[in-house]
Amino acid sequence: MPWLSIPFSDLETKKALNRKFEVEGIPYLIILQPDGSTLHDGVELIYRYGIEAFPFTEEKLEELRREERIKHESQTLTNLLTNPGRDYLLDQTMARKVPVDSLIGKTVGLYFSAQWCFPCAKFTPKLISIYHKIKRSLEGKGGGEDFEIVFVSNDCDQSSFDSYYGTMPWLALPSGDPIIRTLAKYFDVQGIPCLIIIDPDGKTVTKQGRNLINLYQENAYPFTCAKLELLEKEMEEEAKRLPRSNYHAGHRHELTLVSEGNGGGPFICCDCDEQGSGWAYQCLGCGYEVHPRCMRAVDPATAASVQHT
Ligand SMILES: [Zn+2]
Ligand SMILES: [Zn+2]
Repeated sequence: MPWLSIPFSDLETKKALNRKFEVEGIPYLIILQPDGSTLHDGVELIYRYGIEAFPFTEEKLEELRREERIKHESQTLTNLLTNPGRDYLLDQTMARKVPVDSLIGKTVGLYFSAQWCFPCAKFTPKLISIYHKIKRSLEGKGGGEDFEIVFVSNDCDQSSFDSYYGTMPWLALPSGDPIIRTLAKYFDVQGIPCLIIIDPDGKTVTKQGRNLINLYQENAYPFTCAKLELLEKEMEEEAKRLPRSNYHAGHRHELTLVSEGNGGGPFICCDCDEQGSGWAYQCLGCGYEVHPRCMRAVDPATAASVQHT
């Protein structure tokens, strides 16, 4: 490091600083301003704005936030996905170059993923199957509406990119393209897999594509607020017809139907390992919870023979 340090042996000062600034995790960067004020989110600011964040004053940060807002408001697919040396994406053959402009007017999913990532390995096949279902239903409808996904690879090398992308039926940014890092920062992607949905005008619809796919599968398309409100209402109606409790092939105890604000809340489904919210079947004693659609109802005797893991 090119800067100063508190001596390693000076435990007292370290402890006192930890207490004073209530440091709970590292890395943690506190900015002490010349006027004596302090700023606690130095790490986040450096990550988001780099050198631009200096001198970390309220005015400077307000200016950066304003610039960011303007950028998002004037966002188009072309300025998101091209750079001065490249105006195309790869398709499955890897030989054909697909112009980014050919996506204008479509709903587009930006899929941040990598072969080394375990949750990605579980989510990708599901996304592929849903992608095909959405495409088929749009073809059936006619009307020129279309959906496409672009793989934004976090793979470390070309060969992992090649073998992972080889499983996907959609387009991709070239492996290692500098725009990948820019996009991850721009959309503040905190973890993968992450699916960002862009509307036919090139504006962001939602960053929650992954959760929405898990919750509603192909019905989530086109991921707009209006569609989601409709789906929520449908789910409420459907839940009224679900049995209050039931036995599931993956758990030995009886599970109870719970909803948000009625014993439920955000959870990780023990059957498909994906996030859920709203309605769930729950065994309170074991902390076992599954999506209603992941329930495989069995009789109590069969459930009782399930081994606890
Ligand atoms: Zn599930
Ligand atoms: Zn249980």
